[in-house]
Amino acid sequence: MVNDERLLEGLSDRDFRCGFSEAVKVSLLKSPEFFQFLTGAAEAIAAREQPQTSLAIRESVLLHLWHITCGGDPFELQQARPLDFGHWSAHKLEAITKYRLRHGEAVAIGVAVDTVYSHLQLDLPRSVADATLKTLLGLQLPIWDSALNESVIFDGLEEFRQHLGGELTITLLKQVGQPIDVHTIDRGAMREAMAYVAENATSAVG
Ligand SMILES: [Zn+2]
Repeated sequence: MVNDERLLEGLSDRDFRCGFSEAVKVSLLKSPEFFQFLTGAAEAIAAREQPQTSLAIRESVLLHLWHITCGGDPFELQQARPLDFGHWSAHKLEAITKYRLRHGEAVAIGVAVDTVYSHLQLDLPRSVADATLKTLLGLQLPIWDSALNESVIFDGLEEFRQHLGGELTITLLKQVGQPIDVHTIDRGAMREAMAYVAENATSAVG
């Protein structure tokens, strides 16, 4: 795995920030402590400040590595792939925007929607959903895009189900560090989650 931080210096601010949506994702799946750190350090990381940036990269790489090596399923043969949290809608969004959105930006939006949905349908506290939106915005990542609408989301869900071979499995959150697989998505709650994220995206502008 390449983890030479000098490589990062050549990245534009936009590409640099994109990597941190995966850090937010893995913190939500695995580490309340890391999530808390990112919540406090988001603005500093967006400004590429040290030591917050290096700490975030190191922890993110370690958590991804730990999952791959110690997660009991190194080749992700199980149907549910927890590291894909927030990704089912992200893949659809990347395609529908013809890759105007970078992967990391689409993942930020997907994580935002799935975290709010987890609050509405599971036990995830509202404070965690709100902190997630705030952290992504602090990292100067988008949490919403004008290309996103109900048909994109529900078509994406159906395509993802077919991609999985017929049974839908989506990783959501019961708590920070407690992912759970679900096999159905409630459309009303998903609409509500989308509306909530969209509203927070616009209220944060300006
Ligand atoms: Zn990804």
